[in-house]
Amino acid sequence: METPVCDGDGVLPKRSLRRKVSLKNYDEKLMDELIEKHLGGPLKKRNRTRADLEKETEMEAMIALSLGFPIDALLDEEIKAGVVRDMGGKEQNDYIVVRNHILARWRDNVRVWLCKGQIRETVSSEYEHLISSAYDFLLYNGYINFGVSPAFTSHIPEEASSERSVLIIGAGLAGLAAARQLLSFGFKVLVLEGRNRPGGRVYTQKLGKKGHYAAVELGGSVITGIHANPLGVLARQLSIPLHKVRDKCPLYKPDGTLVDEERDSTIEFTFNRLLDKVTELRKIMGGFASDISLGSVLDTLQELYSVAKSKEERQLLDWHLANLEYANAGCVSELSAAYWDQDDPYEMGGDHCFLAGGNWRLIKALCEGVPILYGKTVRTIRHGSDGVEVIAGDQVFQADIVLCTVPLGVLKRKTITFEPELPKRKLDAINRLGFGLLNKVAIVFPHVFWGEDLDTFGCLSNHAHERGEFFLFYSYHTVSGGAVLVALVAGEATQDFERTDPTILLHRVLKVLRGIYNPKGIDVPNPIQTVCTKWGSDALSYGSYSHVRVGSTGVDYDIVAESVGSRLFFAGEATSRKYPATMHGAFLSGLREAGHIFRTTRTLQMYGRKYGQKNPGPNLDALLSLFRRPDLAVGNFLFIIDPLTKDPKSLGLLRVVLEDLSSVFCSDCNLMVDRGTKCPMHGNLPLELYAIVSREQVEQLQLVEGGDRDRLLYLFNDLGLKLMGPSALGALGHSVVTRISSARRGRGRYRLGSA
Ligand SMILES: Cc1cc2nc3c(=O)[nH]c(=O)nc-3n(C[C@H](O)[C@H](O)[C@H](O)COP(=O)(O)OP(=O)(O)OC[C@H]3O[C@@H](n4cnc5c(N)ncnc54)[C@H](O)[C@@H]3O)c2cc1C
Repeated sequence: METPVCDGDGVLPKRSLRRKVSLKNYDEKLMDELIEKHLGGPLKKRNRTRADLEKETEMEAMIALSLGFPIDALLDEEIKAGVVRDMGGKEQNDYIVVRNHILARWRDNVRVWLCKGQIRETVSSEYEHLISSAYDFLLYNGYINFGVSPAFTSHIPEEASSERSVLIIGAGLAGLAAARQLLSFGFKVLVLEGRNRPGGRVYTQKLGKKGHYAAVELGGSVITGIHANPLGVLARQLSIPLHKVRDKCPLYKPDGTLVDEERDSTIEFTFNRLLDKVTELRKIMGGFASDISLGSVLDTLQELYSVAKSKEERQLLDWHLANLEYANAGCVSELSAAYWDQDDPYEMGGDHCFLAGGNWRLIKALCEGVPILYGKTVRTIRHGSDGVEVIAGDQVFQADIVLCTVPLGVLKRKTITFEPELPKRKLDAINRLGFGLLNKVAIVFPHVFWGEDLDTFGCLSNHAHERGEFFLFYSYHTVSGGAVLVALVAGEATQDFERTDPTILLHRVLKVLRGIYNPKGIDVPNPIQTVCTKWGSDALSYGSYSHVRVGSTGVDYDIVAESVGSRLFFAGEATSRKYPATMHGAFLSGLREAGHIFRTTRTLQMYGRKYGQKNPGPNLDALLSLFRRPDLAVGNFLFIIDPLTKDPKSLGLLRVVLEDLSSVFCSDCNLMVDRGTKCPMHGNLPLELYAIVSREQVEQLQLVEGGDRDRLLYLFNDLGLKLMGPSALGALGHSVVTRISSARRGRGRYRLGSA
């Protein structure tokens, strides 16, 4: 992966959220105006001179460039899709012009569905094959006609025309983006979401008093870079205004006094120079830097150049480190010195913005028309050549394909069992990448006391290990409908945060605020409502967002994104190498995988399978593996017992091998039939039948005198049990097998450890 290049001044563009002061607020029509300014009005075929056309082509190339398309080359995806027959020649050049034209046409008005017919009005018919090729590529890869415009509803088939079905795990931005795309491609889609709400890590909560609610972002909040950002497209489609986060960000010392502006800029410059040095150093070190943390390199450089010697300078430098730890949701001691900023070259340009009324407005619009089942926490994903099965609670969902969009934290914890297990290469990448923590304290006050002209202000800390605690405050008074402040907790400080009593936390935040404002004669009122987030202990996230940890690289994002076979696909923030840790990265990954699924099913001519639900049976391999080491054998009766309890009611399994019996039993009819004969109803008899038995029933069966036939009769007549095939053991059988298998694994580990 390329490292970013220095600009003319030799200063790297940094992730800092503090930017130069600008008085102009973001105008939602910025892109429209930009395009119109350069194009001289809406595109018209007629009356254009050659000079007009050239100017137009140039402008369209610039728009394509801002969307990530190279000026004079094809994207890798375009090459793979075979958009042109002859690479590098005239056909490729013509294709690029047509493709750029289509992109610009759609961006010109993202509220309407762009049809091929409209392109034919402005591009000569001699390029018909290129129109089709470019249009199809852009449509099926989510570059045009995506989003939530009400005008698109007619393009989502009511009764999907395709028989192919996709289960999507997770109703976050990735899952919802994929769901809408797949529906518009004609797939049958069902989203399974563990929470009782959509949005995942985008969570706008209504706080405050009845009638005066404020919309407060507890998760993803800032649209980072509005140009070419797909979330900006959604906002435009919904006519939701955006508010540019103004760059003015005063910093306050721990005693509440204002940091001198000049000193602030000097240390900011020093901090950026240190990061430049890291970039230079890693070029010299080559691959070695991948095993070193950014923190350790920065420590060494700080010593070497003897920077930030005074207490205040050290505190200022710590503030910038906290800001970096916030952007990466990880301590500098965890970030890879070599690759922590591998995504910098792809940063979206333009202002950082808040969405008026909160990001839930995007989520709400994305959910419209998408079938979602809430409260369905998926525990097992089975994938094979003939389809997929997804188990949530006691329900099994079947489909052709599954798209898993759960956070990296969930994949790391392995709370979902993949059958068969994920490839080692993917498991290794999941382990290597980091998934860190950022938390927030959201506070609603009765009024704005910090100044209407501020969107952010920062606070320095006395101690390095506390530098991330309330280091930055975001004010949402411009967009939330209330006087809302959100204090961020990043880096080392956020580890203890979730274990601390929220009243203590609130007391600490108020102390910081009163330390700043009371000496100015400004009263800090008591809050109306407060919320402290706990993203680290959230069982459907286990953290906030991903980063490149020591030992990992950007390639790991690509590996996490890889599909397994042609049935199991992955999307989500941590599958996006170019835009990880962001809302737009999550959204784009959903569009990407929708296109990937579309191409895969088309190539394989996969035949459709309707959704189905059935009682889940245990995994056959796990069941057979348990009976390779039965706990008890009496005649042809084999027993598996729960090793973790002596409770007589605890459940185990019985397998009866019928081959040596003089009579056998047909489980479907509940009948004994003579050996060698067939049950008249059900033909060939299965050889091995199962039952779920309690420990107490196992003991009773053990005491039956006689042989297998007597035990069978006792089983039916006295215990009232029924023998059945493995799949009929249902959800209960599945949970007994899972519990005993994992108990046995635990026992094995214990034995090894104590040896
Ligand atoms: C505190 C915080 C602040 C952030 N700030 C910003 C910001 O300012 N700007 C920005 O661009 N980004 C920000 N982000 C990151 C951004 O929110 C995420 O990158 C993005 O929302 C991730 O979307 P996703 O679809 O990949 O995952 P998610 O939104 O996490 O969606 C995954 C879904 O899967 C569900 N799920 C998990 N496990 C299961 C299961 N077993 N069964 C069923 N469902 C399951 C989850 O409930 C969730 O709904 C922030 C994140 C956090 C936490």
